Amino acid sequence: MLDSNLATLKPKQRQAVEHSEGPLLVLAGAGTGKTTTITTKIAYMIEYLGVPPEEILALTFSRDAAKNMQQKVQELVGRRRDVNVSTFHSFCAELLREHPDECGVSENFTIYEDMDMAIYLHRELGIDSKKAAHYSSSISKAKDLNLSMKDFEDYIDGKKEILYKFSSEGEWEQLYHDYKVNLNTFHLKDKSEQKALKEEKKSWQEFINVYDEYRKYQDFIDAWKSYEDKKSSINALDYGDLNYIALQYLDTYGTEELNDTYRYIVVDEFQDTNYLQFELIKRLTAREQNVTIVADPNQSIYAFRGAYTDNIEEFKKQYDIHEDDIVAIDVSYRSTNKILRVSHELIQNNYSDDRKSECILLKNHEDNEGDNVVIQETLDDKEEARKIAEMVDWCAEEGTPLEDIAVLYRTHSQGRVVKDTLQRRGFPVSVKENTDFLKLPEIKTALAYLYVLNNFTHPTPRGTESWWRLFHYNNSLDRSDSIKIAEYIKNNRTTFQDVIYHHLDELGISDRGLEIINSVKQSIAKLFEKTIYDISDLLLEIYDYTGLVRQFSGSDTIRNREALLNLRKLYENAETFEQMHDRDLSGFIAYLEILDEMDGNPSAANITDDNAVNLMTIHSAKGLEFDTVFVINMADNRFPLKRGGKEPLIPYELMEQYRDIFESDFSSEKELNKAIDARKKQLKIEEERRLCYVAFTRAKNHLVLTFSDEYNGSDSGPSDFLYDIGFDESFEDCDTLDDVTFYRDTENKAKELVMDDDIEREKQRRRELLMDSMGSGNITEPLKHLLVYQELVNKEDRDYLEEIKSNWSKIN
Ligand code: ATP
Ligand code: MG
Repeated sequence: MLDSNLATLKPKQRQAVEHSEGPLLVLAGAGTGKTTTITTKIAYMIEYLGVPPEEILALTFSRDAAKNMQQKVQELVGRRRDVNVSTFHSFCAELLREHPDECGVSENFTIYEDMDMAIYLHRELGIDSKKAAHYSSSISKAKDLNLSMKDFEDYIDGKKEILYKFSSEGEWEQLYHDYKVNLNTFHLKDKSEQKALKEEKKSWQEFINVYDEYRKYQDFIDAWKSYEDKKSSINALDYGDLNYIALQYLDTYGTEELNDTYRYIVVDEFQDTNYLQFELIKRLTAREQNVTIVADPNQSIYAFRGAYTDNIEEFKKQYDIHEDDIVAIDVSYRSTNKILRVSHELIQNNYSDDRKSECILLKNHEDNEGDNVVIQETLDDKEEARKIAEMVDWCAEEGTPLEDIAVLYRTHSQGRVVKDTLQRRGFPVSVKENTDFLKLPEIKTALAYLYVLNNFTHPTPRGTESWWRLFHYNNSLDRSDSIKIAEYIKNNRTTFQDVIYHHLDELGISDRGLEIINSVKQSIAKLFEKTIYDISDLLLEIYDYTGLVRQFSGSDTIRNREALLNLRKLYENAETFEQMHDRDLSGFIAYLEILDEMDGNPSAANITDDNAVNLMTIHSAKGLEFDTVFVINMADNRFPLKRGGKEPLIPYELMEQYRDIFESDFSSEKELNKAIDARKKQLKIEEERRLCYVAFTRAKNHLVLTFSDEYNGSDSGPSDFLYDIGFDESFEDCDTLDDVTFYRDTENKAKELVMDDDIEREKQRRRELLMDSMGSGNITEPLKHLLVYQELVNKEDRDYLEEIKSNWSKIN
């Protein structure tokens, strides 16, 4: 096996494989066979050079990638050999467990993920869940960037010094207040006075800015400190600690033992290592420098986790690598020339004019031109999904196995519509992860009961919303009754719960309505008795009592099986929670909210055949390849992604990538801020573009980029990345450029094309959105859903909706 594999390698790949001692850098583009080369190299070292397998350590990024590499090596050497293929994190964790005393940790430490951190901050320090999530991601980012708490403290000290110039510490709060008042009343003063106070005004503003910054970081550090205390008291470590402690251990006790064990180090995807990981590589190669590193700087997509692209330059310096020694491969064994040219068109925008020549255009190994890249525009996201289903159908007819087709997207939630559509059309799909767990109907219903039960002791807005859902799920109230309740809530600024427990008599609800409400109240009372149970048991009661399990046990469809698995997952989550924390309901609810906030939801169940269309985020597609790749949602704000989320709490002054800005002179604060903003934008767009490049270069033969004019009912436009590759607004319905063909399909009203079940689903969805938003006290949301819903329903329903609409307009 190894022999035949070696025979297929091209001279440069072969050169990398046969290079035996000393450092080696393979710097090559996507699909040039980097992973293949280093995997073969490991096998070659074992079989041809007689290196004992246990002396080889291969480091890579994800567990999946590690598993793949391990498997491949085994195939090549024909039997199980003990090469250690590991991720950086698990390697460090292993090291700590082997030397607990020296590392100052207990052998059976648990690993705290960002989520656990946030839960602690939220539950024990009472920090609200959004902020807790923000703090926890900031702490891990700080650790990834190798920033210590001391760095932050020094930063704050700098701020304090400025504040001292205004007054002694005791008076800052008062001063802050006074200056705010001064600023707020400034416009009331007459012109001449304003002029006289011009300089003072500047200093008030300065004080306020600095004091805000000071407080922000002081609060953050306080929380961070208490989190560190907590961790050590319960024997836990977070990911940042693993790396850091491993290094400390090696620096204190020396690298002898490690260097005895591992004499050959191989690293894949080096462009994604952070500072500490590179330090670790240095320790691993302290004695012998037998290290092979493969990297593609254009595929660096983890800067947000502290990946440090300068590491490649650092590597050259550290190991004294000359340009001639670098193995550079400019042939792709994966993609067609057309795909390669389009990808190059895109990524070269990341290079300044004087560096454009460094951006290498790859060539297909057989000089295969291939088919044009397709850009498909559609009317809306449902249409986009339908179009993809249609194209998947063609591919299947042409004989492409479904597993060789991938649909890629920027964020998990963007994949939802396509997943549903493909499944409805009968295509098996395999979804790598899906964080929309809490939004699944079966989960929402089960949780609605938990929220309602919790609402008696710990009222929350979600508790209020849940009452509506509960009635909607069980047995819908009459329309007029619903309106009466909504109206009462609005007029009396009260809650659903309050109304049905204390004011039912005043509303004139129909007899049928009263009956329904009372039966729901009864079931809640019964369930309430069970709240002394463990939450997992309480959930089982809910599943049983509400008929949820029965509902999905009826017929054996994929959807039903998935729903049951999802309910099971929720149950297992409750069990996990009970093991880690105390068993109270509000705690579990906080836990779920944090999971949601941190994108850490359990994955929804996904039942698939082996031969299924792959759906995944671009991040998860790293290193993989498919015959046909769809990159969907290539639209404004969606890709490059415009995130509403907060940036991590790291002062720009402390970040390497901003250092030069702080070292240069700016005429004013404003100029400095402008430079920071510009840098921020640039870094962000470049990283997104690299991500886009990763997406494009996953394709072997067919690449289809889709976008629609409308998402969730709001107008949208094409992604900037499409302009990068030659897209033009003025294109006609079917235009062909050199490498790209553009199709526009926006004439047909989506509605006319939809199948009946689509209408039903959409109706159902809108109805749910409508019901959910009704309790929120906000009128525009429900109205928006109502209007769409109205379009979809028949005449009879329309009259009813008219009625609600006019009632609502009366209420408001
Ligand atoms: P990425 O940058 O995406 O991680 P890579 O550089 O690691 O890609 P590989 O995944 O190793 O590239 O290889 C890409 C494809 O090319 C694989 O299908 C691999 O089997 C094939 N390949 C690699 N080298 C050769 C070769 N010499 N001849 C034929 N096919 C090859
Ligand atoms: Mg690779």
